[in-house]
Amino acid sequence: MTNNNTFTPSLTDINSEEFRLAYNKFVAQGDFIALTRQFEQGFTQAGKANELSFTVKGCKLSLLDTGILLAEPEQLAKPSKSIVISSGIHGNETAPIEIVQQLVSDIIADKLTVEHRTLFIMGNPVAMNIAKRFQTENLNRLFCGKYKNITPCYEKFRAQRIETYVSDFFTAGAEGATNFHYDLHTAIRNSKYEKFAIYPFQHGKSWNKEQLSFLADSGVNTILFGHGPTGTFSYYSSANFAAHAFTIELGKVRPFGENNMANFQAMANNLAKLISNSDIALKDFDNKDFNLFEALGDITKVSDEFKLFVADDASNFTDFPVDTVLSTDAGQEYRTTKQGESIVFPNANVGNGQRAALMVVPTSLA
Ligand SMILES: [Zn+2]
Repeated sequence: MTNNNTFTPSLTDINSEEFRLAYNKFVAQGDFIALTRQFEQGFTQAGKANELSFTVKGCKLSLLDTGILLAEPEQLAKPSKSIVISSGIHGNETAPIEIVQQLVSDIIADKLTVEHRTLFIMGNPVAMNIAKRFQTENLNRLFCGKYKNITPCYEKFRAQRIETYVSDFFTAGAEGATNFHYDLHTAIRNSKYEKFAIYPFQHGKSWNKEQLSFLADSGVNTILFGHGPTGTFSYYSSANFAAHAFTIELGKVRPFGENNMANFQAMANNLAKLISNSDIALKDFDNKDFNLFEALGDITKVSDEFKLFVADDASNFTDFPVDTVLSTDAGQEYRTTKQGESIVFPNANVGNGQRAALMVVPTSLA
């Protein structure tokens, strides 16, 4: 039972017969989704890499927790990379979970060779099981310790654990290793550009063009450059571990089994190549191959009088002519001022003082 002030996770004993049977089945068949959903809140002795480990062709696989699988090759390719591939931070975003499933099952079936340390994550198994974005709190707002500021709930518990696994993972990487984190999502709303990535704020560091070329080659050529620190998972890895990290939106949410996986194959293939240290022939960066956007600012709801003249289901990146009134609020209005000014994540149903939309404008890299 939970109330507002406590949350006690229901953890499965890894020595129980139920767990052993399911784990042995996973080792034999590689169905990571099934195992993750069966023990949604986690198990006892979580985080110990040697408790639940097995080896496939020179790669040690360790189940650290529900939905958290560490793959460590005995021989690391050089230069070495530490790669996090995460999915299901929002539980109903099934296509990314199925991408992780495919990679993990291919590794276990010995169809994919792991040459770089990789951490696979299915982020919110409880929400996966109820086919919702989250149970109590949006997990992708809780990183960088922001989970500390909320009342106890499953997502608070899970965010803390995930931060620890990722921190341990990057910290244990080979000296000089390059860190990567691809946090895969699907969007709730339509988007003028079906696939897009959010590149976390870099605090003045330059945007990495080779990474942008990798994303474009993976089918994602619309990029939104972050404009400040956030509590997202990709920002956590970027800011704390200098990872090349991205929140990647792969299209619209669909239930398990209803995704057209061909639509995600370019991304899945490139992640497989990255893990297995295969060559990926990338085009040199060219602004013409991309839709690049930078943030202009937020439309913030100030009072109960707030009105947003954009439907909540408007497509992301819908653009408006200059001088269009997009919202009014307590005697103020928001009027577009820039050519190509576009709206992202509009949502009028937020509390006073919160962001009702993000405004962006096209940009290019020098
Ligand atoms: Zn998401």
